[in-house]
Amino acid sequence: MTAIDILLPRPTLPIVEEQLDAAFTVHRSYKAEDPDAMLREVGNKIRGVAMAFGAVDAQLLAKIPNVEIVSSLGVGYDHINIPDCKAANVMVTHTPDVLSDEVADTAIGLMIMTIRELGQAEQWLRQGNWLAKGPYPLTQATLRGRTLGVFGLGRIGKEIAKRAEAFGMSIRYHGRNPQKDVAYPYDDSLEGLAEACDTLMVVAPGGAATEHAVNAKVLEKLGPDGIVLNIGRGSVIDETALIEALENGTIYGAGLDVFEQEPQVPEALLRLPRVTVLPHVGSASQATRNAMGQLVVDNLTSWFKSGRAVTPVPEMT
Ligand code: NDP
Repeated sequence: MTAIDILLPRPTLPIVEEQLDAAFTVHRSYKAEDPDAMLREVGNKIRGVAMAFGAVDAQLLAKIPNVEIVSSLGVGYDHINIPDCKAANVMVTHTPDVLSDEVADTAIGLMIMTIRELGQAEQWLRQGNWLAKGPYPLTQATLRGRTLGVFGLGRIGKEIAKRAEAFGMSIRYHGRNPQKDVAYPYDDSLEGLAEACDTLMVVAPGGAATEHAVNAKVLEKLGPDGIVLNIGRGSVIDETALIEALENGTIYGAGLDVFEQEPQVPEALLRLPRVTVLPHVGSASQATRNAMGQLVVDNLTSWFKSGRAVTPVPEMT
């Protein structure tokens, strides 16, 4: 396989880099002084792209006209322009399932941190306030009696729901379609879901179809006890509307792992007292990232061995 040329636009996990080096000729554009000049030189030879993150569109594809496959790390692929890839006859793969448990665990952690203010309570101790001022104030919110509304009850959403049930929460959901394999009540609109729950977990994918789906109206429906949690994509929530809703008491609090302009996080969000923020760590354990990285490699090797991808994105199946 040494004759097959692969583009690696960004540094990635050692287990990916090592296996790619063993099986392919790898061109690391991120190491080139002038990546465009490098692509002008080797672009015609490139047959596969191993992507950590970063945009893939007609502009990039034009520089690698003989590429056959883009193997992306992560289950979300809103950074990849699927119509452009289809038009260029390029297969796109992602890494579903292997991260669902990890992301669901993180989502539950984020929910409890937000509702019980655990991050703030830890800061209270670390800053010496427990000694100087006494106990951390009682949290006004509790998980007890809450209803979780899942926006996007897919692979990860179902794992979150399962865990939340074990915590005694009622579950309901909204998505494009009712799911056949669950008995939770389905709301046919996001506003309807927001009205019927008090804890809204966003785990729908990013992209044009969901952009700012969680807007001022949805937040108003969620109400003053409402808590918004986002483990999906930053673009799904209108961040300006969210900040306003938190400042005005339209909703109670928010827990966010993802943001509209990562790694930028609006100062206004950081100043709000009942907001928990995490730096997009949903799947970020070594074990889970290695499993995702292995799928990136497996998709490339399978494609060039048999012409079949292991985990193509749904639009390619
Ligand atoms: P799935 O495709 O299994 O689930 C997505 C769910 O969202 C499906 O139930 C789907 O509904 C619903 N959905 C899709 N498009 C729309 C839409 N336009 N409007 C309403 N609902 C929609 O994906 P996963 O559960 O595996 O992953 C979900 C997302 O989580 C990823 O796309 C990614 O963005 C994010 N993620 C975040 C991570 C983090 O680190 N924070 C880590 C991993 C993933 P239906 O079944 O009806 O089509």
